[in-house]
Amino acid sequence: KLENATAKAELGRASWKLLHTMMARFPEKPTDDDRLALETYMGLFARLYPCGECASHFQKLLKKYPPQTSSRNNAAGWACFVHNEVNKRLEKEEFNCEKIGDFYDCGCGDDKKKGEK
Ligand code: FAD
Repeated sequence: KLENATAKAELGRASWKLLHTMMARFPEKPTDDDRLALETYMGLFARLYPCGECASHFQKLLKKYPPQTSSRNNAAGWACFVHNEVNKRLEKEEFNCEKIGDFYDCGCGDDKKKGEK
């Protein structure tokens, strides 16, 4: 089947959005079980990502840079970093990870206590 660059890019944007939004909601003080869940999720995400070429590149990236799961900040910073590695390979602009702050809002409203993301 022919490659459809538009569909591939759309899938990429949706996937990154989900990933970064998940990181923005990852616990600030994760339990060992939270940490294991994120590591496992990322491994399976990389394995099952529907674009095969993307998946194999991303699996190598994960090996080189294993997910940082010790805190929300570290998880979000790690995801921003690996996304930038993909950006580099695709010759896209680098995103300033210092500015990630409130960029990814899940819109989930008040299912968390005030002050929490
Ligand atoms: P995207 O890279 O999709 O980013 C979406 C938005 O996120 C940007 O507009 C910006 O606001 C923000 N953003 C950008 N960089 C960061 C960052 N570092 N941290 C946080 N937010 C950021 N495409 C291929 O053609 N070949 C591949 O091998 C490939 N591998 C991929 C692997 C994975 C795991 C994923 C999720 C996607 C992959 N893609 C690949 C798709 C590609 O990364 C882009 O999603 C797609 O090309 C659309 O790019 P875009 O310019 O719209 O921005």
